[in-house]
Amino acid sequence: MTSGRFSVTLMMGAPGAGKGTQAVFACEALGVPHVATGDLLRDHQRHGTVLGTTARVYMDRGDLVPDDLVMGMLIERLQQSDAANGALLDGFPRTLSQARALDDGLGAHGGGVRAVVYLDVPTDVLVRRLSGRRACANCEGTFNVDLQHLPADGSCPACGDQLVHRRDDEPSVVAHRVQVYLQETAPVLEYYREKRLVREVDGSRPVDEIKSGVLQALKQAAPP
Ligand code: AMP
Repeated sequence: MTSGRFSVTLMMGAPGAGKGTQAVFACEALGVPHVATGDLLRDHQRHGTVLGTTARVYMDRGDLVPDDLVMGMLIERLQQSDAANGALLDGFPRTLSQARALDDGLGAHGGGVRAVVYLDVPTDVLVRRLSGRRACANCEGTFNVDLQHLPADGSCPACGDQLVHRRDDEPSVVAHRVQVYLQETAPVLEYYREKRLVREVDGSRPVDEIKSGVLQALKQAAPP
């Protein structure tokens, strides 16, 4: 069992599976930062970095951003002070080559993957949830017009800024993202299953029940 800065727990699940919400609970329990590659990429876009500009082309199409870009960005993030005890990774790795690159990258620093929490949700539920999603560009909060009562003026209930329908949350792009996810990540899940690191949680239940399942799964994983 690995511990320290380069020891990470993974939160896996298709877009719309509720990874963001559950990751907050998991991070509290583990005392580590939530590192979502999608958020990091959007940060780069907002700051107008070269990486952000390059990544935008792929993201707007709902395609994966090339591995070397995402992996470099992630290692940089794990070197920041708040990741001294590792991190909870959300949205990474999505492909087998990213999983291998992650093992190599973490292993080179004496770390590794501690456990994988997988949120399992049927495809039709995913597409429905994602099409109704609205995001706040200011506080990174995500909300759902079908599941929540949101302010009529389209403002963010958390910070008051304007909510947006992300281009990659439009129905045609959503169906493609789910398809890409399932195709690309099935082998990743299998890779970690073979290492006996996967803890499956039924992600179609109410948020509180999923939370209990996630916390239980983290307890089952050996402590760092
Ligand atoms: P997300 O916010 O996790 O749904 O990610 C939004 C978009 O960011 C995805 O559709 C991809 O274009 C890109 N992205 C996020 N994480 C990764 C990753 N691990 N590898 C490649 N592309 C990614």
